[in-house]
Amino acid sequence: MIRTALLSVSDKSGIVPFAKSLHDCGVKLISTGGTAKLLAENGLPVVEVSEITGFPEMLDGRVKTLHPMVHGGLLARRDYPEHMAAIKEHGIGAIDMLVINLYPFQKTVAQEECSFEDAIENIDIGGPAMLRAAAKNHKDVTVLISPTDYDAVLAEMRANKNEVSFATNFKLAKKVYAHTAQYDGAIANYLSSLGDNLEHTTRSEYPQTLHLAFDKVQEMRYGENPHQSAAFYKDTQLVPGALANYRQLQGKELSYNNIADADAAWECVKSFGNTVTSGQPACVIIKHANPCGVAVANSALEAYQKAFKTDSTSAFGGIIAFNRPCDGATAEAVSKQFVEVLIAPAFSPEALAIFASKQNVRLLEIELAETINPQDIKRVGGGLLVQSPDAKNVLPSELRVVTKRQPTPKEMEDLMFAWRVAKYVKSNAIVFCGDGMTLGVGAGQMSRIDSARIASIKAQNAGLTLQNSAVASDAFFPFRDGLDVVVDAGATCVIQPGGSMRDDEVVAAADERGVAMVYTGTRHFRH
Ligand code: 5GP
Repeated sequence: MIRTALLSVSDKSGIVPFAKSLHDCGVKLISTGGTAKLLAENGLPVVEVSEITGFPEMLDGRVKTLHPMVHGGLLARRDYPEHMAAIKEHGIGAIDMLVINLYPFQKTVAQEECSFEDAIENIDIGGPAMLRAAAKNHKDVTVLISPTDYDAVLAEMRANKNEVSFATNFKLAKKVYAHTAQYDGAIANYLSSLGDNLEHTTRSEYPQTLHLAFDKVQEMRYGENPHQSAAFYKDTQLVPGALANYRQLQGKELSYNNIADADAAWECVKSFGNTVTSGQPACVIIKHANPCGVAVANSALEAYQKAFKTDSTSAFGGIIAFNRPCDGATAEAVSKQFVEVLIAPAFSPEALAIFASKQNVRLLEIELAETINPQDIKRVGGGLLVQSPDAKNVLPSELRVVTKRQPTPKEMEDLMFAWRVAKYVKSNAIVFCGDGMTLGVGAGQMSRIDSARIASIKAQNAGLTLQNSAVASDAFFPFRDGLDVVVDAGATCVIQPGGSMRDDEVVAAADERGVAMVYTGTRHFRH
């Protein structure tokens, strides 16, 4: 039963109406300096913690609540007569509810100009101590760290004479320990990012120890294969526009492979315009993490029709993403093929009506926004590889024509499209393109020449011509043979990073064969 609540919040939004409701339920309010002042200004009777502890808040607020009068009131077991006798003997009142949010450490250190001094002063001490105490004693104490939980707890109290159920207290306590672990993780990350630099002026992006915090979204029936178990976690901090913030409108539960492929599709399609007004309408079809069709056009429908042509065999059971809302006509066309997941920034009512009769199709709506994951992470035996994401987009000023022949404007447009797609194809990647669509994609081969051969065979199989096509190679051609394969197939222009020991041999071959070649200066390996 909630008789007394201690409120101590840094971010004071929503605290006044909540405290008012507690007061209306007859709950006695105790609070720390700033929070107490705000409640009193709003006409609420509130007892300052300093009155309870008999100590003023001291050391610039470093010591406010660290006192047996507070911690005894939070930790005493209500079902242990000895505990209750002990607090009674010392004049300690039981505290049944704790409402806290901590000093904003993460927000403070995220600021570029944050000084070491600022960071240290934003390490909350008393808050986590009280949170951990109250959460340990969750059998009898209700602990709230998020305003989003206020209403549900109030409703429960009102319905049950100020009682909060054990189930609710347990749920809230679990949240607390995840929160304090994440909070201490952020402190450890920050301090270890300073390395041995005692001046505390330079910060490394990669701390000595890395504490990551993710929340579980779901457990899947299985992982990449049926004998593997799996779960999906998302960053505790919202990354707007990222796949993890999908809204599933219909369809079966997402599988492990669905999520991995949906991410590949979404990242690729966003690269063609990450607001609904930027770039051209684009469509990406993914199978086994690789694009098997990518196109841009004047509408989502047209982009889909072009992308589908690249490899209609592989598109079966694919994951399809658009950077434009999916309208009725697009939905009608897509619904004719077997599709596992369809992603778009929005679905029109007509599109939803079309898929209503195909409930197996998973429809994901995701806000279209430019987002970049803070880190790229890969698990290796006994460790993690962490890198900054491949956010590089080549600038026109970085392009260098290295052949006698300059690409025509049309060739240049096709080359830029091909280069954009190649970034999302597993290495070694060779991508033939023309007129804003992929014509042949060679992915994930151990030799570049095999990727070139496969890309051209796939175009042939799809009945597409590679005459006058443009080719992107995600990394340099180590020998001229790969170039010969793509030129034999019909390509007239090539884009690649350059940087091979045999660049001269490759450029000479391009000149010999009359093709135009452009260097980007950067490569896009993807593994
Ligand atoms: P107020 O604005 O009410 O003065 O302070 C609220 C903040 O103080 C909360 O974020 C709470 O976690 C924190 N806090 C409460 N007790 C202590 C303490 O004893 N030491 C420190 N460093 N912070 C405390």
